[in-house]
Amino acid sequence: MPTDDVFADLLAGNAAYAESFTVADLEATAAKGLAVLTCMDSRIDPLRMLGLQVGDAKILRNAGARVTEDVLRTLVLADYLLGVDRVMVVAHTGCRMADRTEDDVHESIREAGGPDTRAISFLTTTDQVDALRTDVQRVRSWPYLANVTVGGFLYHLDSGRLDRIC
Ligand SMILES: [Zn+2]
Repeated sequence: MPTDDVFADLLAGNAAYAESFTVADLEATAAKGLAVLTCMDSRIDPLRMLGLQVGDAKILRNAGARVTEDVLRTLVLADYLLGVDRVMVVAHTGCRMADRTEDDVHESIREAGGPDTRAISFLTTTDQVDALRTDVQRVRSWPYLANVTVGGFLYHLDSGRLDRIC
């Protein structure tokens, strides 16, 4: 077993969590028939912002809440095997993936001491609402998904409010 203590605080947190664990009997299907794709931004609490609790929804996260091949793959499983029939794509204000170009991100990483990342597409956008509409349409058009309703939303970091965009 590793001896470093990098994760010690988290294992302690887990020990406390497991002490009062009450959700061992949850179903694997999403109780609200919902999947939520949102950004990895740590200021977003996907369940609480929607008034949900553990077991209610499938949560997918990446930088910028972008619809990628992996998101589509996951939604196919969620649709047919995990009870999902509605999907929310939730972008947010103040997203660092939505106010700069790919080149800006590559440069920022290099300035931070990182490698040349130009072989990676970070899926940045300078028109967040347009990107959201395109991503939602991409899910709607995906032929492997059936009977799934998709909506695009913008979450406001300063108020906690959610606006429906499309
Ligand atoms: Zn973000």
